[in-house]
Amino acid sequence: MTDENSRALYDRALSVMPGGVNSAVRAAIEPYPFFVQKGDGGHVIDADGNRYIDWVMGLGPLLLGHSLPEQVQAAIQKQASAGPMYGTPTEIEVDLAEFVVRHVPSVEKIRFVNSGTEATVSAVRLARGYTGRNKIVVMQGGYHGAQESTLVEGDAENPAPSSAGIPQSFAEHTLPVPFNDEAAVREVFDEHGDDIAAVLTEPILANYGIVHPEDGYHEFLREITAEHGSLLIFDEVITGFRVGGLGCAQSELGVIPDLTTFGKIIGGGFPVGAIGGRAEIIESFAPSGPVFQAGTFSGHPVTMAAGLETLQFAAENDVYNHVNDLGEQLRSGLTDIVADQAPSYTVTGTDSMFKVIFTRDGPGPDSLEEQCKTGCRQNPTCPRYDYCPKNSADVKNAETERWRRIFWGKMKAQDVFLSQNQFECQFVSYNH
Ligand code: PLP
Repeated sequence: MTDENSRALYDRALSVMPGGVNSAVRAAIEPYPFFVQKGDGGHVIDADGNRYIDWVMGLGPLLLGHSLPEQVQAAIQKQASAGPMYGTPTEIEVDLAEFVVRHVPSVEKIRFVNSGTEATVSAVRLARGYTGRNKIVVMQGGYHGAQESTLVEGDAENPAPSSAGIPQSFAEHTLPVPFNDEAAVREVFDEHGDDIAAVLTEPILANYGIVHPEDGYHEFLREITAEHGSLLIFDEVITGFRVGGLGCAQSELGVIPDLTTFGKIIGGGFPVGAIGGRAEIIESFAPSGPVFQAGTFSGHPVTMAAGLETLQFAAENDVYNHVNDLGEQLRSGLTDIVADQAPSYTVTGTDSMFKVIFTRDGPGPDSLEEQCKTGCRQNPTCPRYDYCPKNSADVKNAETERWRRIFWGKMKAQDVFLSQNQFECQFVSYNH
């Protein structure tokens, strides 16, 4: 496998960009990031012509894969050739807004922005503005983008910024609790209930594991937030339009949050974010309400065209059944394959997401017949239940080095592109 072009590009990049990249996580590809020249169906081709099966899929946005159906390509090209953007409203953003409102149970109104980070920044500001409160409860280890209110580690007693450049006084408004731990949430509401603007969580921790909610956990969050006049925000930047089909993870879970943040798939592969929710809350955004929010590129016409055509294509074709079946086959096959390699592991995932977590203890290959294939945490009588990750601490304890060696190192050598760390999940696309 030659790598001269990637290596040369990386050297050039290092001299003009910090770490040679424009997003910190990309630098983690070892020993240096390979540069991609093009995608092709379920593959990417690097700058040296090496072809990889791609399970990273742009880190999630590419539901359909790299080769877009003709109708999606045509819509993107038509919009781009009409001039890229205007700084005014356009019909296409109304079309996409109507589509989302029709399909996602919690969304009565929506505002489009340009990234998942911008969506969670605006959702947190909206929750604070609407409730007149300051504090946000988040799940330890969860990720909601590169923003001040959620780059916070520690616990509710001792929250601390997880990045340089964030004042400790900002972090003090954020209360991290372990996922799937009702008592911890009760405790923070007992202590800070009057000042909690919102609980912000992914419905399924897709950024950290994958970790599934235990039965009743989100119902509990729904109840306790309502009881205290706080908002429940689901961050569906990853799960939105991937888990649960067009209704998103919330429709599968049957829990209706007050606000939902979107990104990734909703823009069809172009930069996007969105905040949807109850009309009364969304109306607190300026100009109808007091919470300022604006953006030059928001509702970008090319993004709106790509997002709408992608979702319409998914609605009219068998996209979700296809990708979910493939996901199920992969989880099943991986369960069998890694049984020979490792004494204990959990294959996690749902629909078109998958991940293998190596756990330090647990039953070995002997109990293969009984291995769970989703890490679902839904069945306390399952023999794997105690080894299923319950929260970020369990994932953190997993053998990240073994993931790196087997799944990243060896699979890359066999032309398979997986996320290089233990915490990010893998995605199946329609092209696969
Ligand atoms: N929220 C979640 C759950 C995410 O996974 C991400 C990114 O992966 C974000 C927010 C931030 O999105 P973006 O990278 O588009 O800013």
